[in-house]
Amino acid sequence: MSVGADWAEAWIRRSAADIALNRAALNTLDRDIGDGDHGENMDRGFQAALPKLDELSDTATPADVFKVVATTLISTVGGAAGPLYGTAFLKAALSVVGQVELDGNGLATFLTAARDGIVLRGKAESGDKTMVDSWTPAVDAATAANAAGASTAEILRQAADAALAGAVATEPWVARKGRASYLGERAIGHRDPGAESTALLLRAAAEAAGQ
Ligand code: ADP
Ligand code: MG
Ligand code: MG
Repeated sequence: MSVGADWAEAWIRRSAADIALNRAALNTLDRDIGDGDHGENMDRGFQAALPKLDELSDTATPADVFKVVATTLISTVGGAAGPLYGTAFLKAALSVVGQVELDGNGLATFLTAARDGIVLRGKAESGDKTMVDSWTPAVDAATAANAAGASTAEILRQAADAALAGAVATEPWVARKGRASYLGERAIGHRDPGAESTALLLRAAAEAAGQ
């Protein structure tokens, strides 16, 4: 089984809806250890992507969908998360360019490329209490599930589960990147907002594939 542009588009639409629903909750997480705008930033970006999806042609590929999301996020989100997620979607697009359907290898490839793009851009390592701490377990889980021969939907579900566990795991940590790093030990006890939004996005990806 594989997923195509319909899935990619459904993923982004579902992400936009879920982020809108969780806008206040993401702002609250960011108010605890940042400047309180993460929900607002993400909501602005994903809402702006929706009309652009409408303009895609019938022959669009998943990479075309990711590219539209990348350029929209880079131009509308601002803050740390805009360029980071923008780079993630741009690298994801480049990694599967020309592929009409993504199989398990395609999913593992684009998730890895997205994570690598975030690391390239933001220079965070695992354990720095950033969105990387949600992406990396998701990439590892997707890679393992693919190697074990799981279906595309199952690969995405495993990635989403791992992303959420990764976000939860950031709670007891001190931050070493982003605004939260200015807080020292005061960041302890709070979940990283970007790790949480990554978990939301990857859950939407699994749901769009029927999981
Ligand atoms: P800002 O901090 O500019 O207001 P947002 O609130 O939208 O931007 O995004 C904050 C999130 O960005 C953090 O919760 C963290 O997950 C992520 N982040 C910040 N800096 C980095 C970095 N260098 N690498 C990876 N992620 C980062
Ligand atoms: Mg913020
Ligand atoms: Mg900000």
